[in-house]
Amino acid sequence: MPFERPRGTNDYGPEEMARRRAVEAILRDTAHRFGFREIATPMFESLELFTAKSGPGIVKELYAFKDKGGRDIALRPEFTASVVRFYLSDLRNLPKPVKVCSVGNVFRYEEPQKGRYREFTQFNAEVLGAPPLQGDAEVIALAIGCLRAIGVKEVHTRIGHIGMLRAFLKVPPEDQATVLHALDKRDFPALKQDLARLGLQNLEPVLREYIELKGGPEVLDKGARLLGGGGAEAFEYLRKLAERLRAYGIEHVTFDLGVVRGLDYYTGMVFEIDSPNLGAEKQVMGGGAYTLAELFGGEPVPQTGFAFGLDRIVMAAEAEGVKLPTPRLDCYVVPIGEALQPKALEVLRTLREAGVSADMDLLGRGPSKNLDYANAIRARFAVLVGEAESKRGAVAVKDLDSGKQEEMRLEDLIARARGPAKP
Ligand code: AMP
Repeated sequence: MPFERPRGTNDYGPEEMARRRAVEAILRDTAHRFGFREIATPMFESLELFTAKSGPGIVKELYAFKDKGGRDIALRPEFTASVVRFYLSDLRNLPKPVKVCSVGNVFRYEEPQKGRYREFTQFNAEVLGAPPLQGDAEVIALAIGCLRAIGVKEVHTRIGHIGMLRAFLKVPPEDQATVLHALDKRDFPALKQDLARLGLQNLEPVLREYIELKGGPEVLDKGARLLGGGGAEAFEYLRKLAERLRAYGIEHVTFDLGVVRGLDYYTGMVFEIDSPNLGAEKQVMGGGAYTLAELFGGEPVPQTGFAFGLDRIVMAAEAEGVKLPTPRLDCYVVPIGEALQPKALEVLRTLREAGVSADMDLLGRGPSKNLDYANAIRARFAVLVGEAESKRGAVAVKDLDSGKQEEMRLEDLIARARGPAKP
């Protein structure tokens, strides 16, 4: 093997790529149905964009380098920072709220394992400039709507709020960040150390109990009791959010006070969706509310967003046996005898020009081998171009799903092939 793929990257063969594209198309289509519009931003940005948001500690998790002009550049590890940058320079002039989505590759210098890569695809959606309750509910509804549209059912949606913990900690935001990070990673030695540094060691048992709270509305009462009345507004907010989600037809959400999310910039609701079928890397989506524009020097604007990991949704769909609508070749053209090659090529060309997907042997195989091939690639119809049918201005069409063969004119074949295919 002369060359190997870089660690943490993937190759995708035709079958897998078809499934990925099918999922991507459903995500785009669902976002469109929810009134989101697609945007695109560069795959690399100035490094500062990410350090401004997440602090200098982020650099070790990035693909960061100097370009030939000596500029510090990083491959994007996610979309949010780019969307906010774009919002401040242009999108804020659009009518509010701004509802946008993007799909593309992101890069993180992570320790690779199954479902965790250094290059992967995310589908990102953001609402900017809507009041938090309305924006949050719309974004959560879109995330759940996407999974419903794909047909993935075995998922858990967990909703929390970072506001209670921030209120409870009563320390400056930079100190909150380290504590929240340790809680997110469930890194209890780091948590102990950090709380000791802040003189808050007595909070450790409360925090550890708090992040385990998960369930229905009763969880909010328990959490409020544990925090001794701290963060009351945020608890109330979650109740209202659940009520609004019910009106969207979303009944079963779990409150999970342990959803902390590592990134420092979340300020409000946070949510995650898991597929329990995926093993260790089971989180298919993560998101929440923030006011990042302010951090980037703009007017404060409420913003809620999420990102799906495409690889993980495809894996979740496969684990549940979801049939994804992948395209099939409509017609495989088979000349019956060497002399009919030119006629078969003409048929091939007519089909392709009519917008029907069609293919033909390039290897000089005989009819029976050609039929084997057509079956192997799951073509819908084998189009047999023989002498007698040609004289009658027709072709013999074998439906490869039913095995039925009939003679028909090319126009009729085109009309049939344009009709829906079995998945
Ligand atoms: P995040 O931007 O970290 O909130 O991640 C959003 C989603 O992207 C996660 O829920 C995963 O589905 C996916 N994801 C995050 N990191 C990786 C990774 N290293 N490889 C594959 N997918 C990932």
